[in-house]
Amino acid sequence: TSARRRKIVAGNWKMNKTVPEALALVRELRGPVSSVGDVVEVVLAPPFVALQPLHVALEGAPFQLAGQNCHWEASGAFTGEVSAPMLAELGCAYVIVGHSERRQLFGETDETVNKKARAVRDAKMTPIICVGETLAERESNRTLEVVERQVRGALAGFEAKEVAGFVLAYEPVWAIGTGRNATSAQAQEVHAAIRGLVGRLYDGETAGRVRIQYGGSVKPDNAAELLGQPDVDGALVGGASLKAGDFAAIVKAA
Ligand code: PGA
Repeated sequence: TSARRRKIVAGNWKMNKTVPEALALVRELRGPVSSVGDVVEVVLAPPFVALQPLHVALEGAPFQLAGQNCHWEASGAFTGEVSAPMLAELGCAYVIVGHSERRQLFGETDETVNKKARAVRDAKMTPIICVGETLAERESNRTLEVVERQVRGALAGFEAKEVAGFVLAYEPVWAIGTGRNATSAQAQEVHAAIRGLVGRLYDGETAGRVRIQYGGSVKPDNAAELLGQPDVDGALVGGASLKAGDFAAIVKAA
């Protein structure tokens, strides 16, 4: 049952907010989010440059930090990249891996997603692994096939006890930044399929523990309905996470 899974709401700020803007946003969020911090896990994924200032500013606050991406190597000649151990050292508990923008704009594949998830895990953090179909894939009835391929690829080589602690995020590409969210029935169908796949790849215990977020145009007015589905364990929020009032309302809806 979903009762054993703590809800997790994450704000993916993408390439938004300077350091002063990031600090201002968390100042606004702190009060409203503190009241629900025990019930819902709240995660913020700011740009890399804001991680250290937020790590300092959030000392003792009920927020976890996440990187939006990382490289799979721990160090080396990879100009412009940031490694998982570097993020862990800045207080990150999570790293988003395989976001569709990274898959579409930066050449991420199921294989690099898998390597990055491994690096995140090796650095003792938790990957938030994103999967989701494009509009063309949905319209050709390939949604479950695509999502299952992505989940299998991302989890290759991981053991049940690792996967049980992971966060997966179902983010239909056509719903991201479009204002057109999946219906709660569409989300529930894919979430149940993902959980079923984890059950087949591992076991029922692992499937019952892995958390699956929905992402794609989550807003205060659709969050309760989406998050009320039995296999929806939280939300990965883009646009609405940039406004304190909207993000706090989504956290409360969870
Ligand atoms: P959105 O983005 O909430 O702006 O649709 C979600 C995401 O990309 O994680």
